[in-house]
Amino acid sequence: MTETSEFPLRPLPALTKDTEAFWTGGKDGQLLIEQCDRCAYYIHPPTGFCPQCESRDTHFQPVSGKGRLLSFSINHRKWMPELPERYVLGIVTLAEQEEVRLVCNVVNCDPDAVEFDMPVKVLFEEQDGCWVPLFEPDGDAT
Ligand SMILES: [Zn+2]
Repeated sequence: MTETSEFPLRPLPALTKDTEAFWTGGKDGQLLIEQCDRCAYYIHPPTGFCPQCESRDTHFQPVSGKGRLLSFSINHRKWMPELPERYVLGIVTLAEQEEVRLVCNVVNCDPDAVEFDMPVKVLFEEQDGCWVPLFEPDGDAT
């Protein structure tokens, strides 16, 4: 797990029974994505319901944490005193299933070096019991 201090005080999500596993899996270094027991479809954001086969039998499955940057935006404005002035907000598609899209910050790289379709991997930033998934360039991927 890599620590980053770009976001000293990040606004945190409210944890619910549907989302708690997703937000706390980073404690064990795992990105946990809800998966359907019946058809193995990955469901994100977690809802307890499979849109593919309409099953309500689901569990949280550790995934590789690897994916690609589908789209991104570079923020240039200081919206809140706790947030850095310049940061990257991205949409990542996971290697396991393209339809799983995570909205997240891309860190540990110069925002000007961020590219579409860039391979990325997950890391976590802990704050107040919430392990926020972030992504950084995956130098090992091609
Ligand atoms: Zn299903």
